[in-house]
Amino acid sequence: MSMTLLKGAPAARALQDKLSSRIQACGKEICLAVIRVGDNPDDCSYERSILKKCEQLGIMARTVTLDAACTPKQLKTEVANLNEDVTVHGVIVMRPLPKHLEEVRIEELVSPCKDVDAMHPQNLAAAFLGENGFAPCTAEAVMQLLEHAEVTLKGKHAVVIGRSPVVGRPLAMLLLQRDATVTVCHSKTENLKELCKQADILVCAAGQAKMVDASYIKPGAVVMDVGIHVDAGGQLCGDVDRDAVGEKASLLTPVPGGVGTVTGWILMEHVVRAAEEQA
Ligand code: NAD
Repeated sequence: MSMTLLKGAPAARALQDKLSSRIQACGKEICLAVIRVGDNPDDCSYERSILKKCEQLGIMARTVTLDAACTPKQLKTEVANLNEDVTVHGVIVMRPLPKHLEEVRIEELVSPCKDVDAMHPQNLAAAFLGENGFAPCTAEAVMQLLEHAEVTLKGKHAVVIGRSPVVGRPLAMLLLQRDATVTVCHSKTENLKELCKQADILVCAAGQAKMVDASYIKPGAVVMDVGIHVDAGGQLCGDVDRDAVGEKASLLTPVPGGVGTVTGWILMEHVVRAAEEQA
C-alpha cells in the first residue's frame, strides 16, 4: 500500500481564506491580547508565531509582558483588565506559568467568552458535552485535518494514544461527536499494540518520540501524529516512526508540517469567533 502524507498547509490555507472573509464581514477591529510572564524562549517564540498570524490576518495584537517575579495580584489584575476591556476579544496567557504563580489558577481567570486557548473549565465542559465553546486548539486541529482530507469517521474505530486534558481527552470527545467509536489508551494500557492495530484512525499523542512503528498499524489506517520531539540528530520528529509505518498506513500527518501547522490557525479561528460572538 502506498501512503500519502497528510500535510497541514492546505487545511491551514483553507482555514486562513475563510477567516479573512469572516474578518471582513465582522466589520470591527478584532483584538487578541497575549500575556507573557518572563522571557522563556519557548514562550517568546510562540508569541512571535501568534503575532505573525495576527498580522497576516489583520487582527490587532496587544502584548502584555510581566516580569518573571511579578506577584499573583499583578497577574490577576492584568487578566481582569483585559476581561473588562470591550476592545479585546480574546486573551491568551502563555503557560506554564512560573512556579510561584501556580496558586493563581489561571485557567479559571480568563473570561470563558475570551478564552480562545480553551483553558477554562466551562469551555472544556462544552467540548465534552458537544456544546458551543472553544475546544483545545490541538484537538480541533486534528479534527480539521481529518475533515479537510474527507476521512470518514462515522462508525469507524478511532484509537487515541494519550489522555492529557489538552490533547487526548478532548480529542476523544470530538471524535465521539463525529460518530466514531473511540478507544482512549494511556501509559497504563495493557495490550496497547493490539488495540492500536484495530484502529481505522490512530491518533498518536503520547509524547514519546518514534514510539509507533508498523506493528501498531492496521493496513490502510489513517495515522495522525500529534507528538513533537527533537531526535538524536537534532531533527524534529513525532510519536510515529515515519519510515517504519510507510508501507501500512494510508494517510500520515508529517512532523513537522502536519498537525502543528494547523493548530495556530485554530487559535485564530477562536479569536475571530470570539469577536463575532461578542456584541
Ligand atoms: P502529556 O505528557 O500531557 O500526555 C501524554 C499522554 O500520553 C498521557 O496521557 C500518557 O498516559 C500517555 N502516554 C505516555 N507514554 C505512553 C506510552 N508509552 N504508551 C501509551 N500512552 C502513553 O502530553 P500532551 O501535552 O498531551 O502532548 C502530547 C504530545 O503532543 C507531545 O509530544 C507534545 O509535544 C505534542 N503536542 C503537539 C501539539 C501540536 O500542535 N502538534 C500541541 C500540544 C502538544
